[in-house]
Amino acid sequence: ATRLRLVLGDQLNASHSWFREKHQGTLYVIAELHQEASYTKHHAQKISAFFAAMSQFADALEQAGHRVLHLTLDETAQYQDLPALLAALFQRHNVDHFEYQLADEYRLRHQLENFTQGLTIKVTPYETEHFYLKDAELAHYFQQGKKHRLEHFYRKMRLRFNVMMEGDEPLGGQWNFDQQNRQKIKPKDFVAVPEPLLFSHDVTLIWERIQRHNINTIGEMNTALLWPVNRKQSLLLLDYFCRFCLVRFGQFQDAMTAKLDALGESKQWALYHSRLSFALNTKMISPQCVVDTAIAQYVSSEGEISLAQIEGFVRQIIGWREFVRGVYWSNMPEYGQLNVLNADNLLPDWFWNAKTNMNCLHYAIKQSLQYAYAHHIQRLMVTGNFCLITAIDPKQVDDWYLGIYIDAIEWVEMPNTRGMSQFADGGIVGSKAYAASGNYINKMSDYCSDCKYSVSKTIGDNACPLNALYWNFMAKHQQLFSNNPRNKMVFANWQKKPIDDQQAILKRAEYLLNNLHNI
Ligand code: FAD
Ligand code: SF4
Repeated sequence: ATRLRLVLGDQLNASHSWFREKHQGTLYVIAELHQEASYTKHHAQKISAFFAAMSQFADALEQAGHRVLHLTLDETAQYQDLPALLAALFQRHNVDHFEYQLADEYRLRHQLENFTQGLTIKVTPYETEHFYLKDAELAHYFQQGKKHRLEHFYRKMRLRFNVMMEGDEPLGGQWNFDQQNRQKIKPKDFVAVPEPLLFSHDVTLIWERIQRHNINTIGEMNTALLWPVNRKQSLLLLDYFCRFCLVRFGQFQDAMTAKLDALGESKQWALYHSRLSFALNTKMISPQCVVDTAIAQYVSSEGEISLAQIEGFVRQIIGWREFVRGVYWSNMPEYGQLNVLNADNLLPDWFWNAKTNMNCLHYAIKQSLQYAYAHHIQRLMVTGNFCLITAIDPKQVDDWYLGIYIDAIEWVEMPNTRGMSQFADGGIVGSKAYAASGNYINKMSDYCSDCKYSVSKTIGDNACPLNALYWNFMAKHQQLFSNNPRNKMVFANWQKKPIDDQQAILKRAEYLLNNLHNI
């Protein structure tokens, strides 16, 4: 008899307690599945990266002496879905015990729950042993529908896991140093931006397989994959980040530029970001390893890396990453239906080809298609903001984000997209809607100077579309947003405008909303 242990594509955690001992009676199954490659239209590089990392993980397990069955699409194509494959494997290998790690996606967790309910063999689910918070602990921190706040949660996490603390006080006497961060990047800063560490893993055979099985993809394919596909590469990327990027991480965290091109396009899209999200979300590397390594670098830098930089980074991982996971699990499946602002417009076609005259959107989308990556502010304040202020149906927005990014897995994608960026959850994730006019983009980037539109204008054919759309959005939702003290000034400014001006702005917005596909 065999004990079958299933390892999903985002469960590549070599440190899991499963792997501490070797039993010839235990068979590890790692399988490329049509259902996983097609539940949404993924970026070509994303599917390739997952399949490559799974294959590398299977090899590593085998080399460590475990019994592994690595199945490619060619071998799993005949099975309709994961349960059908598992049922066949149970028979073939005389399985009397099935073990799996809890899936991080609602869709998969329920598929496995339903499947195992009908089984007569022994079934044991396990924690993934990846996150700071155990799955079983989430309910202590998060409640359905409750408007939890990151800052509060983040402090609890720092205290509980004793991260950068001096007793009960945060290191440096402050929890958050964001005010010192978030600067615009200027040409004088360009030369110091490090070349990103890019890998070049050959995925030609995987890519051929994806095409052979008619899996629809988006984005540009690069068969010399830039992303880390095993633990060793993930650790190299982490080390590179700590040595060369952490020192300016917070400072330029929100900056965007199109003008670094001359010094190397890859510098431009990566800036000081870690690009560790794929390594983290596949669990090739753990959040604790990332946080501990970054803090060790901060300590050994003896002041070269400021507290503001390390705090800003740590907050993303023990704060945001764990926070959105809690929000997801406490609110699914209802969360996936929320649409508090009743947004129902169609996502413009140029989200799939970057053909828009708006320079900021052109760059953010082009880069996403090319690299399956954009940094947080490009996602939140460029593409996300556009969809928010033009009332695009959150289902379409979710689908785009879930497909296009190398790191997109629903538990982290959805609260960020539907919640933080689209406010479709009415403020469960964030305390305000991240709506902005061209002014914000101009403040944080150099996109506007080369744009066909004029960022200083709100009406007229060449006025920045985001300006009128922003005012229109705020005016439309005045009732909902005016209670928030952070919006007081905004509405005071709107009221100050003469009625004729207000009407001209709303008319321009109406025109834009009717022509979203051609701007
Ligand atoms: P860095 O800027 O170097 O940050 C370090 C790490 O912190 C990241 O690798 C990530 O693990 C974590 N992190 C930072 N911000 C967040 C956040 N808001 N939520 C969760 N973790 C965070 N992240 C995903 O991993 N998958 C997604 O599908 C995803 N979709 C997003 C959709 C939208 C609309 C927005 C606004 C954000 C989304 N994010 C998502 C969060 C964030 O943008 C990415 O984690 C980050 O850009 C990944 O790049 P990086 O590794 O270089 O991050
Ligand atoms: Fe974007 Fe407006 Fe600036 Fe053009 S002018 S880059 S549309 S913010």
